[in-house]
Amino acid sequence: MDCPSCSTELERKMIREIEVDECPDCKGIWFEDDELRKAKDSTDSDLNWIDFEIWKHKDRAKARSKDLQCPDCRKALVAIDYSDTDVEIDYCPSCKGIWLDKGEFKSIIKALTDELLTKSFSDYVKASIEEAKEIVAGPEPFLSEWKDFVTVCRMMQYRLFIENPKLLEEAMIIQQTNPIK
Ligand SMILES: [Zn+2]
Ligand SMILES: [Zn+2]
Repeated sequence: MDCPSCSTELERKMIREIEVDECPDCKGIWFEDDELRKAKDSTDSDLNWIDFEIWKHKDRAKARSKDLQCPDCRKALVAIDYSDTDVEIDYCPSCKGIWLDKGEFKSIIKALTDELLTKSFSDYVKASIEEAKEIVAGPEPFLSEWKDFVTVCRMMQYRLFIENPKLLEEAMIIQQTNPIK
């Protein structure tokens, strides 16, 4: 599989217990749907993450077309924006994979941090976000070092795409009408 952004061949890598495909050049990460679902059992002890309300508001998620190709099934990826944040996720409604580039990951951390400032969370959650911020701000961001990264991705996938069939339908239409080949 090749990187949707820079066409470099993606490398198989383990993050926690799941396999992802990472671009050695731009550090983007491709998550297959199956892999994210497999992560379920191993993250149940961290359920307090699910309390984040950030992804809950269905009308705030918007799908739009994007000029990137799914590394797996080669159809067009669809960008999902989440209003009032800089969060943008690239999603393939056909194979249900998620592409996150380095900038997108930073936006997710920022959105989580902003939410964290307005609410009271356990010390565990706060410590984890601090850890994520340090990794992102470091000279060589390496997402697999953040232990809760996979949990956040799973939560995002669940809220945005499984709980929100309308968004999924919208994304499917955008993918089908995007001329990318
Ligand atoms: Zn790349
Ligand atoms: Zn696909």
